[in-house]
Amino acid sequence: LVTENGGVGVGVGDGQKFLPSDSVINLDHGDPTMYEPFWRKMGDKATIVIPGWQCMSYFSDINKVCWFLEPDFAQEIIRLHKLVGNANTEDRYIVVGTGSTQLFQAALYALSPSNATDPISVVSAAPYYSSGLYRWAGDAYTFDEEGPYIELVTSPNNPDGFSRESVVKRGGGTLVHDLAYYWPQYTPLTSMTDHELMLFTVSKSTGHAGTRLGWALVKDKAVAKKMTKYIELNTIGVSKDSQLRAAKILKTLTDSCEITEKTDHTECFFEYGHLIMAERWQQLRDAVKRSGVFSLPQFSPDFCNYKRTVTEPHPAFAWLRCEGEVQDCESFLKGHKILTRSGRHFGEDPKYVRVSMLDRNEAFKLFVERLSSIHS
Ligand code: PMP
Repeated sequence: LVTENGGVGVGVGDGQKFLPSDSVINLDHGDPTMYEPFWRKMGDKATIVIPGWQCMSYFSDINKVCWFLEPDFAQEIIRLHKLVGNANTEDRYIVVGTGSTQLFQAALYALSPSNATDPISVVSAAPYYSSGLYRWAGDAYTFDEEGPYIELVTSPNNPDGFSRESVVKRGGGTLVHDLAYYWPQYTPLTSMTDHELMLFTVSKSTGHAGTRLGWALVKDKAVAKKMTKYIELNTIGVSKDSQLRAAKILKTLTDSCEITEKTDHTECFFEYGHLIMAERWQQLRDAVKRSGVFSLPQFSPDFCNYKRTVTEPHPAFAWLRCEGEVQDCESFLKGHKILTRSGRHFGEDPKYVRVSMLDRNEAFKLFVERLSSIHS
């Protein structure tokens, strides 16, 4: 990305290192490149080779509801959830998707009544993460329409990082739980979730956003079947190459934490992730204090069943607020060559911006340095 000043923008591409101090810092997307050093260190343990003759068929296991789900990937998903204890995989159907983005569309298709004349309302409590592609009925707090609806519960939430529960408490609704960030590096795992339809993604759990894989844990067989049908109509399945790679990545991750339960904790992916996130949040809070122009949400610590100790939430995004005169925080930060996403995109005030906490070290360092030097 070549920027106005002819320099190279930060936050895109593979393995970018050197950053001139006046670089544009792009923290608009939640690109999880922060995890690269861990996977670099894993080397051959997380590498796969796929011979030319392999993965040629459309089909993976025709006896399964999701017939394009690779058994190795399914097995590693179950193993990882068992290790972490963040979601119940017993008596569930696993549906794989090209990112949890495709699975969300599949879920909307599966949960919409087939005989309805109008599209179903989709709501989520503000601030929310939404493309608004479907019949978006907006903020769940103010939703008062009749008829069936789907409520999307993102927990921890994108953009503000808080843990959430459903808001619309009336009949005729179905819940979709987006648990992309319900992993120990981001939040204390306070319960083994057991919802009807839960979405996960490698993008945020391991950092492999480019692999484009997500999975849904679905209680109801008919819903899992309909989601599978949607993906069949949309992309005739999901890349097997990606699934094999993701299986190896998840296996390496689980191995790294299983082994270190007895030995060295720092080798475990979740310990590594937790340590960096804690460090980054501390640095960000220090920078905000030094600047005096911004504020951040405060989170309550809680007992994490995985880490068996009290931990604090360290969300993947910072929901930063410009205090004082500044009305448009996104433009204000852009003036300081920091690219973020305005609160407006999430149904909130433009005094807020969402800032990715998952970029490479060099970019994050530059960001906190620059932020701390901004004064009113
Ligand atoms: N859900 C949430 C809450 C997200 O923040 C994101 C990515 N920003 C996604 C889903 C999409 O993930 P994927 O890369 O798997 O499509």
